[in-house]
Amino acid sequence: MPVRCCPECFDDRGLRNDVIPSLNPIHGTCSYCESENVALIEPSQLAEYFAMLVSIYEIDPDGKSLVEWMKTDWQLFRHPRMDSPRAKELLADILDDGEVVRKNFSPSAAFKSEGLARWEMLRDELMLRNRARRRNLWVVSGSFDIGLRQT
Ligand SMILES: [Zn+2]
Repeated sequence: MPVRCCPECFDDRGLRNDVIPSLNPIHGTCSYCESENVALIEPSQLAEYFAMLVSIYEIDPDGKSLVEWMKTDWQLFRHPRMDSPRAKELLADILDDGEVVRKNFSPSAAFKSEGLARWEMLRDELMLRNRARRRNLWVVSGSFDIGLRQT
């Protein structure tokens, strides 16, 4: 049986209420956080969702890992069992990239140049849309692309 992740791994309302239910989950025990009788999907099904989050960071040797950014900026991977190694394993499986999770990142210069306030505003806006969204990922990533071009 392929490895599968669940909403509890992330402890995010948007993923739990909207994203994961829309991905035809099965039910069982999570391969990562070991929660029982939960909705399970294959990590790669979240690739587009997480690619959007990753796209606002850029490689920076003095930065932090993507998992650390996602824990602090997006309050993801908050399950007690999802320590850094386990969260990195899951993120690597989601992105199908074992290298990127070992690199350090910082918020993209495109946002930093606008100042921290701008960055925090964007983050809040993305998170809000994320949480409020009812349709599909393209709505969010589409609006996000427009935001990028304007900066
Ligand atoms: Zn889980």
